[in-house]
Parts: sequence; structure tokens; C-alpha cells
Amino acid sequence: MLRHLWLFCLCALHVACSGDEHREAESERSMPAEAPQASAPQQGVHDAPGSETRSSAQASMDPYTERRRLMGTVFMIRAEADPKIARPAVAKAFAEMERIEFLLSEWRPGSEISRINAAAGLHPVHVSEETFTVVKSGVEMSALTDGAFDLSWAALHGLYDFRPGLERVPSRDEIRRQLRFIDFRRIALDEKERTVYLKQRGMKLGTGAIGKGYALDRAGQILRAAGIRSYMLFGGGQVQVYGMRGDRPYRVGIQHPRLPDKHIGYFESSGGSISTSGDYERALIGPDGDRIHHILDPRTGLPSKASISVTLHSSSGLYADALSTAAFVLGPERALALLQSLDADVSAVIVGPDCRVHTTPGTFEAAHLEGSVDENGLLVGCKP
Ligand code: ADP
Ligand code: MG
Repeated sequence: MLRHLWLFCLCALHVACSGDEHREAESERSMPAEAPQASAPQQGVHDAPGSETRSSAQASMDPYTERRRLMGTVFMIRAEADPKIARPAVAKAFAEMERIEFLLSEWRPGSEISRINAAAGLHPVHVSEETFTVVKSGVEMSALTDGAFDLSWAALHGLYDFRPGLERVPSRDEIRRQLRFIDFRRIALDEKERTVYLKQRGMKLGTGAIGKGYALDRAGQILRAAGIRSYMLFGGGQVQVYGMRGDRPYRVGIQHPRLPDKHIGYFESSGGSISTSGDYERALIGPDGDRIHHILDPRTGLPSKASISVTLHSSSGLYADALSTAAFVLGPERALALLQSLDADVSAVIVGPDCRVHTTPGTFEAAHLEGSVDENGLLVGCKP
């Protein structure tokens, strides 16, 4: 099953392009050319000065850069290509991600996911091949992680609100009432009819830990098909890179979970996705000083305390997205066991709840973490 799960991401899904509103072209000068953090604070893309420097090979050509607000965050595409080629390709890539948002977002009333949610406990819903494949992938990820990642987590939707001024934290009772609706085993998929059925009224799918990564995969496919040989895509806490930055791979900084402008190391990649799940994004401090954040443990309905942050590199955006969330909830030991059992090349840096740094084999050196970890294996400057 693992092989099957992994291969799914290589499937080419259909391309359709839609409107082109909210365009906001950006010059390279207003967006530093340096390594982005694999994790962006709150609701924005954030470039950090640091490890990425420009080589002489690139000095002659400025990358073409555009930003747009999508999926509740800011996305940015930076393509190393002539603007004549880059501009239409980037517009098409953004349109594709907008299309995916309209298909997969549980926040959009007309989306296919919303239709599935509205029919919970009533009837199966026929969906597009694309939605079916993403949902199937999410269900497989749920099974693989024994429910640490659960596509039906969204029965908790609306209980937490992290928006400034609108903060909301649910009572234990409210959470308890909703927990019985979370169970990926009660998501029924019918391949032949291509339907999804949530077996109980009150169940809800939420694609927040999988849709963004999938959208980045699709955007990358479009850029490559347009002949772009080198690009960087940013979407919230995730970065996707392809090709070379001059004469070497891209470098993507690993965000320090407690020091906003500091990197603890970086991943080098010429084709892959780097995703971060951290307890400092979409978070607030509760009445008793507790850190309340958006990565929830589906067994308790409470923000997971199993990790402080996970930064993970994978060839697939969808799996980088989902696995970083899953690894966070699993905690370092179980996450590393799972990641190493996968039939795929996944590297991860996990900061445990006690600030201890855990890595997949070879990643400590490859991600240049030496200077950030003390003699006891703890992240320097980290507080639980
Ligand atoms: P980000 O959205 O900042 O990239 P993550 O990739 O870690 O962060 O995804 C967190 C989002 O995933 C949450 O905002 C929510 O939409 C959803 N989510 C939270 N907990 C779970 C879970 N246990 N399983 C699946 N999805 C989850
Ligand atoms: Mg993610």
C-alpha cells in the first residue's frame, strides 16, 4: 500500500484554468532573493535573509516574481525565466491553484468537499476524479498514521479561532461532543461510482493539511510544462523548488520555532517540497498560559503537544504537507519510525516537546544543524 500511496503523487491530473483577478506583479527588488523560511509566520509569506546567495551565473537575470492571496494565506511564485515566458506561465499556475481551492476547500460552500460534508449521513456524493484522488490520498494517509492525521478532523471546525480580536477556545464539553464525528474509517469511498460518503451526520472533511501541498504540485507541473527550468513556489508554511539556483541547488531555511527571524539550518533541493508544521503558527496563549494552536490531535480534539515543529522534505508537495502535520501529531519517535518505513525519500527535522532535535538518518549533517544544537541534543534558544 505504501508504494501505491506514494506513487499517487506522480499521477498527472487534468489541468483547467480559470480567471486571473487579484494579480499583483512584484519586482524582485521588493522581495529579497534569499532563502525563504520553510515556515511562514501567521498569514504571510516571509523571506528571510540568510543562506541563499546569488551566483554570478544568475546575476544577469532577475527572477520573475508574483504574489497572490489564496487558501487563507499568501502564495508566491518566483520563476527564473524571461518574463515573456514566465508571466503567462505564472498566471496559469495561479489560476490552477485558485481552481483547486474552489474544488477542495471546506470553507467554500460550493466546493466538492463542502458538498460531501453537506451530505454526511444522508447519501454518497459523486465527485471529480481529482477530488476523489485527493480524498483517497487523505484517507490513506489517515490509515497510515493510525489517525494522527485524520481527514475528518474538521468536525472541530469553528471551535477554535486564532484571528486577532476573534480568538476562541472551546470548552472540554464542546470538544467532547464533536469528537465522535472524527473517524476516517467512516469515510466510504466507492472507486467504481467515484463517490465519497461520510457515514454519520455531523462528520466533516477538512483539507487544510493536504490541499495546499497538492495545489503547489499542480502549479509546479504547469511551470515545468511551460519550459521553466528553475522556480520556487511559496504557500504559507510550504516551499516548493525545482532546478538550480545558478550552479547549485536551492536552499530553504528551517525556521527556528521560537525565534521568528532565525534559521536553524537549511534543506538543499533541486526538486522537492519543504513543509513546516509548527505550534507557533496560528496560535494563541490560553488563560492558563498554555500554547493553543491549529494542529489538533484527533483523539483528544486538543492542540497536539507531541512536537514543537516539524520541517520535512519530500519529492511530493501533497505528502510533504500531510506528513509534516502527521509527524507533528505522532511525535518524534513514532514519526521517525513511520518516515523510515516509507518507500520514499523523506527527510525530516523534528523539534520535540522538550526542545530535543530529532532527524531522519543523514539529515542532521545534510541540513547543517551543527551550530544550532547544544551538547545535550537540545535546540539552542528553544523553550518548551
Ligand atoms: P499549515 O496549514 O500552516 O501549513 P499544517 O500543514 O500543519 O499547517 O496543517 C495544519 C492544518 O491542517 C490545520 O490548520 C487544519 O486545517 C488541518 N489539521 C489540523 N489538525 C489536523 C489533523 N490532525 N489531521 C489532519 N488535518 C489537520
Ligand atoms: Mg502543511
